[in-house]
Amino acid sequence: MDYIGRIFRPPSEAESMLLQVTVGCSHNKCTYCAMYSDGDQKFKVKPWETVKADIDEIANSGYQPRRMFLCDGDALILSTNKLCKILEEIRTSIPTVRRVGIYGDARSVLKKSVDELKQLKDLGLGIVYHGVESGSDQVLENICKGSTAEQAVETAHRLKEAGIRHSVIVMLGVGGTELSEIHATETAKILTAMDPPFVGALTTTVVPGTPMNAAQLAGEFTLPDPWQMLDELRTIIDKAELTRCAFHSNHASNYLPLRLNLPTDREKGLQLIDEILSQRDPSMLKDERLRGL
Ligand code: SF4
Repeated sequence: MDYIGRIFRPPSEAESMLLQVTVGCSHNKCTYCAMYSDGDQKFKVKPWETVKADIDEIANSGYQPRRMFLCDGDALILSTNKLCKILEEIRTSIPTVRRVGIYGDARSVLKKSVDELKQLKDLGLGIVYHGVESGSDQVLENICKGSTAEQAVETAHRLKEAGIRHSVIVMLGVGGTELSEIHATETAKILTAMDPPFVGALTTTVVPGTPMNAAQLAGEFTLPDPWQMLDELRTIIDKAELTRCAFHSNHASNYLPLRLNLPTDREKGLQLIDEILSQRDPSMLKDERLRGL
């Protein structure tokens, strides 16, 4: 397989066959992100011949994956035509594949009409993982997300209309201590407006060499402590009105791993968080050394 640079995928795609169709991220400006900072990860679209050779390799290997994930960072930025060609080839050559997943965001989804998205869905695109990060436009601007809260909501509606599952990622602590409260309340609000079937909450980690790290060193950004992050998580779980959502905070970065079905498990989640917040016993949180990005 032709893999260039470090390959990332959502935790829930651990069993999926990874097919790299683009390298890096076409945006590559989010201030906390160091995923595609290596020299060989500059954004590019991989040639069709390379992608086709990888699909053939999987088809000829005897391995029969049920799921595939198209890498890298925002592969949905590819044109509908290119994506259709890839999905058609997967369908023809590896018929065991039942679902294809991809990273996308407001920029890549809103470039496509509902009809185009339906076309992709009909060819097997089943889920889009979308780093929304925050519902606060001020936070989104500070982190150079490249899209607004309103655009994120429009993204959710467009994917829903096309019948594509939407997995939303939000980041605890990404607004810093200063915007912590507004970040949490606005994130609850945007989740209510988006009403996605999946939400993953990650904990912001300041990675050396990133613009967020520079802001931290300059005293312009302060990462909330674990208790303030838990406060944010509490606000989001309490205030987001979701119809039927698998809400997870079990990413390696989190201090408190939770798996909740919202709204059913809302009280259970809040009670646990309240107990931890009242005791403030660090041993109730994941050990700092066990946390990952
Ligand atoms: S869109 Fe995603 S991959 Fe690209 S810079 Fe932002 S966080 Fe990183």
